[in-house]
Amino acid sequence: MLVLVLNCGSSSIKSQLLDLERGTVLAKGLLEKIGLPDCFFTYEPSGRETVSFPVEAKDHFSGLEVVTSALTHPAYGAVKDLKEIDAIGHRVVHGGEKFSNAVLITDEVMEVVEECAALAPLHNPANIMGIRACKRFMPDTPQVAVFDTAFHQTIPKHIFLYALPYEYYSKYKLRRYGFHGTSHQYVAQKAAEMLDRPLEELRLITCHLGNGSSVTAVKNGCSLDTSMGFTPLEGLVMGTRTGDIDPAIALFLMEKEGLSTQEVDDLFNKKSGFLGLSGLSNDVRDLRAAAAKGHKRARIALEVYPYRVKKRIGSYAAAMGGVDAIVFTAGIGENDPQMRADICAGLEFLGVDIDPRKNKATRGKAGDISTESAKVRVLVIPTNEELMIARETKRVVEAAK
Ligand code: AMP
Repeated sequence: MLVLVLNCGSSSIKSQLLDLERGTVLAKGLLEKIGLPDCFFTYEPSGRETVSFPVEAKDHFSGLEVVTSALTHPAYGAVKDLKEIDAIGHRVVHGGEKFSNAVLITDEVMEVVEECAALAPLHNPANIMGIRACKRFMPDTPQVAVFDTAFHQTIPKHIFLYALPYEYYSKYKLRRYGFHGTSHQYVAQKAAEMLDRPLEELRLITCHLGNGSSVTAVKNGCSLDTSMGFTPLEGLVMGTRTGDIDPAIALFLMEKEGLSTQEVDDLFNKKSGFLGLSGLSNDVRDLRAAAAKGHKRARIALEVYPYRVKKRIGSYAAAMGGVDAIVFTAGIGENDPQMRADICAGLEFLGVDIDPRKNKATRGKAGDISTESAKVRVLVIPTNEELMIARETKRVVEAAK
């Protein structure tokens, strides 16, 4: 089955065409800066040279035209006709409380996804535009929505509720949702394979550490708790996001600095985290280079981050009554042995004991970095959200037949 996976952001479209039977990626595309004069498309056909060129794409419709033209291009296309593509899987950020699984997109589903846009005003509208554009270019191809929030719908009420007056939950559905669900679910499944144990028996702590970062407690295959909340702002320190802070800080800054709600939103989401602490960059690689030269703020940023992850791991071990394995994934989790070592240091009381040699040797590939005798396995597993979305799309389309 050929599945086109689309991740439509507000100004970008990421695409991957996967052949699920062969287990191969036929082409990858990245369209950036939709609506801007310097809109640019990069297309990587499997086994052939990458092509990249400036394009004019004023919106997601013209953006998808660029993507589909590349896929069927006589010189570097992956298919002759778009009809060869069996299904389209969309990453949809917010499914609210309505979707605990991927679904076939129908008019009724679209109505609910539109309702959920109130909860994710920056993300869902772009996802909706992508779905509508596909309807125009590939009207007969089934489309599936795979939600970032769905995996976390198993989180029980006493964990997802904020201690606000209950009416705000009833009125606005103000609660913790959690994100990165597709990634946490994928690495949890992979961890069970690597450990050769049924996922249903395992207590896992999955750490998705990238520009956006979150930790999830996965008990018996289900998300029990996760660090992101009503929005992806809650939880860990991130590239440019604060993570957990005292909410009173927003009020304090609004008063002292005369900031508007939009300015506070910008400050917390785009100017904080690694970037805000260091004053330098949101990228850990830049901070490591600067810290090595004595940059004090880069150094402290690199200390704040692992402490927060460690604290979450400890709390989730408590929530699950123990932990069998900790999984590291995403940009930082897969590639930064120093960060993994800093996070794991001090967790020996839980049974964590990583082998420094194995840790150093494991970058961008799967591996068990714990010592033979460690009680808790520590695994590095590259995430693959596109593959997970494609598999979910296949499952939903086949079930609907
Ligand atoms: P992601 O959001 O998963 O793509 O992760 C992106 C982040 O991963 C970057 O901003 C870096 O902070 C981090 N990263 C990527 N490669 C490396 C590396 N080799 N060493 C340390 N951090 C890395």
